[in-house]
Amino acid sequence: MGVTIDVEALCLKKGLRITEQRRVIARVLSEIDDHPDVEALHRRVVAVDPRISIATVYRTVKLFEESGILERHEFQGGRSRYETVQDEHHDHLIDVETGNVIEFHDAELEALQARIAARLGFKLVDHRMELYGTPIKPGE
Ligand SMILES: [Zn+2]
Repeated sequence: MGVTIDVEALCLKKGLRITEQRRVIARVLSEIDDHPDVEALHRRVVAVDPRISIATVYRTVKLFEESGILERHEFQGGRSRYETVQDEHHDHLIDVETGNVIEFHDAELEALQARIAARLGFKLVDHRMELYGTPIKPGE
């Protein structure tokens, strides 16, 4: 959550071949602190190197996702969005008016989910929690 990840170093660690274009994309990804879709990512990439096509960004994002460097989210009403895989688990609140994504972590919620799984006879290994909302305006 807001932790800077050195994507280029991760690529090397995972044995991915680093081309010049991949390096640019990796650097852009290292700096993201939100959850862009491929088009938004491409806009940031071409600001660094205008020769990089959206197809290249698509392919690279897919490769990074398969390599466990990026996590893909399928939030309602939008395209796939990406963030770098973080050590610390967090959940998401999506502002349905703007598409902004707010990250949160709630120990009570985590414990509750584990209890529900246990009640159903399961050990919880993963979950996805997405909240959708509109900002509360003063006086509401
Ligand atoms: Zn996130």
